[in-house]
Amino acid sequence: MDIKYKSTRGGQAGLSSAQAVLQGLASDGGLFVPEVFPSLNHSLKEFSNMSYQKIAYEVLKLFFTDYSEKELKSCIQKAYSQKFSLESIVGLKQIEHTYYLELFHGPSLAFKDMALSILPYLMQVARKKQKVKKDMLILTATSGDTGKAAMEGFCNLENIQVIVFYPQNGVSPFQEHQMITQDGVNNHAVSVKGNFDDLQTGVKKIFNDLQFAEELKEQGYLLTSANSMNIGRLFPQIIYYVYALSRMITKTNLNEEEQVNLVVPTGNFGNILAAYYAKKIGLPIKYLICASNENHVLYDFFQSGVYDKNRKFLCTTSPSMDILVSSNLERLLYEIVDEDPKETKRLMDSLNNFGRYQVSAEAYEKLKDFFGFYTKESDNFMHMKKIYDRHHYILDPHTSIASCAYEQYQKRYTDLSKALIVSTASPYKFSETVIKALKPDRQDDLTKSQTGTEKDFAFIEQLQKISASSLPWGVEKLRYAPVLHHRSCEAAQMQQEIKNILKKKED
Ligand SMILES: *Cc1c(COP(=O)(O)O)cnc(C)c1O
Repeated sequence: MDIKYKSTRGGQAGLSSAQAVLQGLASDGGLFVPEVFPSLNHSLKEFSNMSYQKIAYEVLKLFFTDYSEKELKSCIQKAYSQKFSLESIVGLKQIEHTYYLELFHGPSLAFKDMALSILPYLMQVARKKQKVKKDMLILTATSGDTGKAAMEGFCNLENIQVIVFYPQNGVSPFQEHQMITQDGVNNHAVSVKGNFDDLQTGVKKIFNDLQFAEELKEQGYLLTSANSMNIGRLFPQIIYYVYALSRMITKTNLNEEEQVNLVVPTGNFGNILAAYYAKKIGLPIKYLICASNENHVLYDFFQSGVYDKNRKFLCTTSPSMDILVSSNLERLLYEIVDEDPKETKRLMDSLNNFGRYQVSAEAYEKLKDFFGFYTKESDNFMHMKKIYDRHHYILDPHTSIASCAYEQYQKRYTDLSKALIVSTASPYKFSETVIKALKPDRQDDLTKSQTGTEKDFAFIEQLQKISASSLPWGVEKLRYAPVLHHRSCEAAQMQQEIKNILKKKED
């Protein structure tokens, strides 16, 4: 089956997957979705005998139908390689009746690696297929984890430049350090005064500025995005759900038809949307439990059908989920309004103009596969400690938000189905928060006088002692890595900053 792509707002249709990957966002501001959905053509039992890479091929070939077998397999082989510290690529950890799907064994120690390790290769092939002569300019706004993962994924790839904008005070010191020490002649990191939503809005504005796109074209660049709206990021995120459920069959006594609940710590709604798509193409998934932190716009939406971003943006200790505009939700809206592009556009225009929208009662009814929960900072801290005390398993603050959501769900509904909790970051990435949670009354003031990386590594060492595990090499190599990126700008100056970077390159 040949699958074409169309915009959720109706302005574009009939694109090949290669075209959609290159473009990133649709020209009408919408997101690309498949014109029809494929179905998985193997049973979970069959998948249980396949490697991660083989499953990747079986999933991706359903969506990237214009890529040849050779092209896809080559992308997969380069992406899911020794860059991951587990041969299985992802981990599955059982704690009583729940399973944690560990997606943080890649180079950036967060789940963004799962998709950003393959997107660059999908783009390179697309560029060749579309006979694009210009270089690609990848613009990305990051809430902390995308930036590093993108810089790793695209590192030193030919004909591609990468510019990452991150909020100056919105990422953890470790996350910032990961980005500003990243090498690669084509990588550029810029700290921006503003929060993630300011940055995401700024990047979207740049994409919608046709005159700027023309200017860039004259300079030899084609503008695109590596944000989670790109289908080249979305579909690779389905792979691990297929993998996880297939392994639950072999490792546990999961029956082939038994439905599993998925719990996903959510920010931009990419990861949970991939889970929803996984269900749509045939995985036995029961409910999708959307976990939020104190920025609980999504929880409110699932409660009421009203999405309202008019509220204070809170900086929490799960920064990768500090988001008030969850971009990928547009794809779910499109589904629940029966793929009506006019209605989707009306809702998105309302979000743009008034910061809020309300879906119809009929559309709201179609959200019944979803549950939303949110967790306060103090409860999240207690939860990390509880799981550690009981099971000696250390959760990062984002995964803990999901684990809390599941606990709330269980308290309310007592559901005996098995559950898969998505674990999105290594605790090492957020050592300070994790140590403060696990050892709330620790006496040492070792870290009081330290700052920056030194302080970070003091917490990392403490965490290593507690966990008695070896440091991931992604952490070890950071300690003495030199700072390579020094750029910063105001949110309103992002466009100018891009010009400066490209000009500097030409000089
Ligand atoms: C990006 C991120 C999330 C949120 O994922 P979305 O796909 O944006 O919903 C959660 N946890 C971590 C650690 C992340 O990096």
